[in-house]
Amino acid sequence: MPELPELEAIRQYLASNISEQVITNVKTFLHTVIRKPSALEFEELLNGSTLDQIERIGKILRFSLHKSDLILNLYIDHGLTGRLAWSSISQKIHAKTVFSLKFSNNKILIYHDTRLHGAVWLFSSKNYQPSERPAVIENFGPDFVQISESEFIKRLQKFRGEIKGILTNQKFVTGIGNAYADEILFEAKIHPFSKSPQLNREEKSALYLACKNVLSSAVEQISRILESTQKLDNERYWRQQIFRVHLKDKQPCPICGNPISTIKAKRLTNFCRKCQVPANRNFI
Ligand SMILES: [Zn+2]
Repeated sequence: MPELPELEAIRQYLASNISEQVITNVKTFLHTVIRKPSALEFEELLNGSTLDQIERIGKILRFSLHKSDLILNLYIDHGLTGRLAWSSISQKIHAKTVFSLKFSNNKILIYHDTRLHGAVWLFSSKNYQPSERPAVIENFGPDFVQISESEFIKRLQKFRGEIKGILTNQKFVTGIGNAYADEILFEAKIHPFSKSPQLNREEKSALYLACKNVLSSAVEQISRILESTQKLDNERYWRQQIFRVHLKDKQPCPICGNPISTIKAKRLTNFCRKCQVPANRNFI
């Protein structure tokens, strides 16, 4: 599932490649992923519209467009397997393509979703009236990039479970998922199953700083790779380049050399038992 760094790098890259371009052709294929409106309306509304900007709201991308007095907002929630990609006329289209958008600079952006877990919405409004937005966004906490350290620590007091569960809870902050939470906790030297109230002030500060460092450094690294490869749906490769513990089961910890541990519960957690000591020493 793409998380904040991947979507932020994609957002910045796309904004510099297709902003102010007009959509000259729209095709829809897998209609079930398009929650609103109908596939036909989706095509009609987007055709001829101009892309103004792309924003990221947690793990959702919003494309803002206009067509005369019509304001259009296209939201993409990638789910587990949804990915944006470039296509070309000569290229065989991805088997699970949901839609394709051709822009006036001849670039063709497609959205494909192998397991159809994602969701796409297109809302339209007239005369700058506020547009509707997907209900899921209403439950989101602040995006990590917008939150200060004091706000982060203050919010943390309201969430009392295991720290990894809190970091990935979109009501706490949006944008962090299972994979980057492992990387952040490793950077902060905090055991993933430490309970939030067990963390002292220094550990909470370290956690905030680790979020900031891990996420911003990942955005920079992915942006660099994207510029050189132009490949948007390349998450696995990006992660191979960036990750230090996630999916590194039994490999030596990059700091102490101890083998990386794996715990498979509802989801996979990787961490170093030597570097990430539980806040409560009686734990484990
Ligand atoms: Zn270690």
